[in-house]
Amino acid sequence: QLRVQNGYAPIVSDFESLWVRRLYGRIRDCFNRPITGVAGGRVSLLERYSMDFNRSFQFTGRLNNVLNLASYNYLGFAQSEGPCADKVEEAMREGGITQGSTRSEVGCTRLLADTEDMVARFVGAEAAIIVSMGYATNALNIPTLASKGSLIISDELNHSSLVAGARLSGAAIHVFRHNNVRDLEKVLRRSIAQGQPRTHRPWKKILVIVEGLYSMEGEFCNLPEIIELRRRYKFHLFVDEAHSIGALGKRGRGICDHFGVDPREVDVLMGTFTKSFGATGGYIAGSRALIDHLRVNSLSAVYAEAMSVPVLAQVSSSMRMIMGEDREHALEGQQRLDQLALNSRYFAQGLKNLGFMTLGNPGSPVVPLLLFNPAKIPAFSRECLRRNVAVVVVSYPATPIITGRVRFCISASHTREDLDYALEQISEIGDLLMLKFHKGDVSAG
Ligand code: PMP
Repeated sequence: QLRVQNGYAPIVSDFESLWVRRLYGRIRDCFNRPITGVAGGRVSLLERYSMDFNRSFQFTGRLNNVLNLASYNYLGFAQSEGPCADKVEEAMREGGITQGSTRSEVGCTRLLADTEDMVARFVGAEAAIIVSMGYATNALNIPTLASKGSLIISDELNHSSLVAGARLSGAAIHVFRHNNVRDLEKVLRRSIAQGQPRTHRPWKKILVIVEGLYSMEGEFCNLPEIIELRRRYKFHLFVDEAHSIGALGKRGRGICDHFGVDPREVDVLMGTFTKSFGATGGYIAGSRALIDHLRVNSLSAVYAEAMSVPVLAQVSSSMRMIMGEDREHALEGQQRLDQLALNSRYFAQGLKNLGFMTLGNPGSPVVPLLLFNPAKIPAFSRECLRRNVAVVVVSYPATPIITGRVRFCISASHTREDLDYALEQISEIGDLLMLKFHKGDVSAG
């Protein structure tokens, strides 16, 4: 099928790998399975299909009301009813779906400008710019911040969108060991001493890129220490808060809120609306000079469709609720934040008590559980789905081959009964697949 035909290499050949075909082709449960309805605390997945890796799906029925531990819906704002949904509907009737224009032409609606101001206030920056896609926020804006002669220093586990942006920028890219501030300092020292390749001139600028919460690890970045380095080495700091904004910190303001750090110590605060806000798109916030620069120069502002009005309505109404500025639902945002923190700790602790090996910081809404043996990866997701629990399993190339894992996403919309049910089912699966460590087991810690 993939052999050269008529002298042409098949167009898909670059995406083919034995591993992807053999492993992901077998994970037939939550992967590539269309859902119906809202992906909230529960979700409906279409049942059984036959799938050849390169062919289309065939569906035979529907599987209802599965507990959803698979999608990012940290604060439970992914919904089709309630105050946000009303605002979205109203906005769609007034503003339609598309501007048919970029932000820099006639795509900047009043709601867009107002929501950008709100985002800036929310994250504690002078100004913000909104982009209609989270991935593009990184991929298309980093090239406006660094170019040839600049140096980007990137955490080795940074998200693909950050890697894409760094590569597109033309800057030199050096990588440091994941969340290891000592190694970051080593790379900084070495890079500064060597300067640019061949000419050894000083770098035009140095941009250090990290994430607030690493979604495959459930791990917070070591922000206070990185900020300490920033003061000493005078680099610019870019923090991707896709998973931490709206999810971490007492007031949900992200990783700076979590550590009690002044957000102005971070030069570029990036985040997405796809996780905590139940919407789509992303933002970059920072100084007014930075945002003015991006408005005029960034590829996403100049060449891509501006954010849709109904999506902006979802972003602004959910953000207003988190900020406690929605008078009718003044306490609801804080309640959701508290519930998320409670649920995340309860679930992670529950897994630990059962003897599983989990990763991540306490309070992380993403809880990875290690499966180790690649053969257990499809088995785990299949067993979960058989018990009406939707999960996402991840393995190579997203993780090293022997640390494949299941990544549970916890939401404020999960009830205590939901979490207890999930823990009970996962415990049984753990026995079945021999995933638990017991006291006295070597390396259980
Ligand atoms: N940055 C990070 C760290 C992410 O995890 C993701 C996606 N999960 C993105 C950016 C891209 O965001 P989106 O899915 O909203 O396009």
